[in-house]
Amino acid sequence: MDPDPVELNLVCPVEHSLFVKPICLPCGHTIDESALIKSIEANKVLHRGPARLTRCPLDNVHTIGELCKPAKRHINVLVMQNVDAFVRQYPHHPLSVEFLDNRRASNLVRAGELFAQGNVVEAARLGHPEAQAAMEQQQRKAQADKLVARADRVFENDRGDPKYMTLLERACSVYECDEILVKRAIAYKEGFGVEPDEGKALKRLMRTQMYQSLLPPDLRRARK
Ligand SMILES: [Zn+2]
Repeated sequence: MDPDPVELNLVCPVEHSLFVKPICLPCGHTIDESALIKSIEANKVLHRGPARLTRCPLDNVHTIGELCKPAKRHINVLVMQNVDAFVRQYPHHPLSVEFLDNRRASNLVRAGELFAQGNVVEAARLGHPEAQAAMEQQQRKAQADKLVARADRVFENDRGDPKYMTLLERACSVYECDEILVKRAIAYKEGFGVEPDEGKALKRLMRTQMYQSLLPPDLRRARK
């Protein structure tokens, strides 16, 4: 039989669910951050203003107003480690299933905050979809930059090496941006590498915004 997480002190006495972020209160009690936040919110309503006199929901005595600031909250790491170990060992326990949902939600809230602060890497790690997309774009761009650098080295060694175009094509397929598109188009136009259809290459070149911006102003207008 599975051990009882309540007996193991892995359950928040207020929320009755496994601790996601166990916070140590000055009174010595440990409650989950979600319970603390509820307590702070309830107090705000009670006092119609910022919570300064929030009390521990367990003994209703100690003021924990300073814990309104997330930076002032201390996590009970030992409890968190024990919860993690329990969930790993009993992933199908109903409390474990609920815990994983709660942690995902908590991570997403935190990820949203981090993303708003510009910490894209951490936000992506915590599952923020926009941050993850941005990270993926970044990785693709880095990969494309490497391919372009390789292409340039090939070109330096031998202007006629068809590998130059192959590498530029690959860079375009990994990450399409004006810079690379124009580079490829110029290469085709100038006849570097192998271009089976020069007309196609020119059309490609003219589609790029950068090409447009490089044209003399009157020509730019004429093409529109
Ligand atoms: Zn207390």
